[in-house]
Amino acid sequence: MDSVLLGLAGVLGNDRVEVDGARVATVSRDESDLPPARPLAVVRPRHTQDVVAVVRACHDARLPLTARGGGTSLEGSSVPSVGAIVLDLSDLARVAQTSVEERLAVVEAGVVFDRLNERLRPTGLFFPPTPGGSADAATIGGMVATDAGGLYAVRYGGTRRWVRGLTVVTGDGTILHTGSRLPKTSTGVDLTQVFVGAEGTLGIVTEVTLGLCPVPEARQRAAWAFDDLGTACACVADLLLGIPDLAAVEVVDRGTVDLLRAGADGAGAPAGDLLLIEVHGRASECAAAIQAACDIASTFGARPVDGATDPWELRHRLTRAVRESAAPSGVVRTDAAVPLPRLAAFVAATQERAAARGRRLHVFGHAGLGILHFLAPLAGAGAWPLDEARDWKVALCVEATRQGGVVSGEHGVGLGNREAYLATAGATLPYLRALKSVFDPAGILNPGKIL
Ligand SMILES: Cc1cc2nc3c(=O)[nH]c(=O)nc-3n(C[C@H](O)[C@H](O)[C@H](O)COP(=O)(O)OP(=O)(O)OC[C@H]3O[C@@H](n4cnc5c(N)ncnc54)[C@H](O)[C@@H]3O)c2cc1C
Repeated sequence: MDSVLLGLAGVLGNDRVEVDGARVATVSRDESDLPPARPLAVVRPRHTQDVVAVVRACHDARLPLTARGGGTSLEGSSVPSVGAIVLDLSDLARVAQTSVEERLAVVEAGVVFDRLNERLRPTGLFFPPTPGGSADAATIGGMVATDAGGLYAVRYGGTRRWVRGLTVVTGDGTILHTGSRLPKTSTGVDLTQVFVGAEGTLGIVTEVTLGLCPVPEARQRAAWAFDDLGTACACVADLLLGIPDLAAVEVVDRGTVDLLRAGADGAGAPAGDLLLIEVHGRASECAAAIQAACDIASTFGARPVDGATDPWELRHRLTRAVRESAAPSGVVRTDAAVPLPRLAAFVAATQERAAARGRRLHVFGHAGLGILHFLAPLAGAGAWPLDEARDWKVALCVEATRQGGVVSGEHGVGLGNREAYLATAGATLPYLRALKSVFDPAGILNPGKIL
């Protein structure tokens, strides 16, 4: 074994450092379809001091180090570089404190999103940003590092809004405590936000102080089918203006719906281009909001959905179903976002261009936030050649940015969005590089991601 690893095994214990076996294979990839990379070892710390020991060893030996939570990144953020050490944070899984009075929880980075909300249930509070289909695996540390959002960000915002403070180990092994327990401060620059969305390139988050929200008294859902996806998207801005209690606004194109309908348990699925909403509030308010939403949707020609299957249940299965339909090659995906007034035209133009090329394109996403996932399958009917799909993705992200949007609305930059990000970051780049060298002077933390 490498001398650095021998040293770490001495400090953390032999069973905490693995150089082969299933775990090493697992951490070589994430949920993206980007190529895997085999790390030198996986190291599993139990607490912040273990993390310090690993970071210092990597810093001194100039070894790359990639933090890993649930490994559910869709853009290669948690794929290590070849020969890196992967820091598997899944054993930092304690909910250290909850305070109902302060509406907060102090949790270790490896706590899984669903487990946290299960723990919080008796308190009547919850942590709202829900990463959809990965909620049972994504960790709070990973969500902080990608500023994860999801279904309910329309009403509650993304992870960033709920992070009050962090314990972070920087690239030279210094422990920083940022922020506070308070929901609002004005005490100078809050470094907390520097680490949110940094994808483990500036520091390793070991503990998070999270604000919490009261669980809404009632939730109610509705769904409609439209003649085309552009019209469904055009309806979104009116819904957001007219319904203050909207918590989620999702769209799914008919091709993706048909894919699910063709599957083993898809017989009861509704047909058409779908728009799904969820409202949160008091029971009486929810009923009134749903009625108002129906009135608005009908002015856009919406029809009630048919079929016995709950369209929301379908929504949770989409990401993996589309990927499976393109096996073994997978998909090239986007999570670019555009301002709402541009959404309908952006979707229609993107669909038209793909159809003109004879390519299959799946479209779904958080329309209420302007975030759309376009998935270009690399195998099966209407498959895209890899190079064409990659070029298309960069062009789409650059166009979204030109229209006032962003390259990534929720999955992060990672490896998959990096080219488009670098093409659009402009004058901010030298400042970001300077920031990187302050927090990670040896450049060991998740190299090759974002910058
Ligand atoms: C089916 C499916 C649906 C999804 N839906 C959504 C969605 O609706 N919304 C959404 O936002 N995302 C979604 N995602 C993407 C993904 O779940 C999120 O990005 C999630 O936040 C990643 O958490 P993780 O614990 O798996 O992080 P990982 O994948 O392990 O890591 C992600 C990044 O964070 C870094 N990191 C991890 N832990 C730490 C730490 N403690 N300190 C510093 N850096 C760290 C890693 O190095 C990496 O750069 C989805 C993924 C899947 C597979």
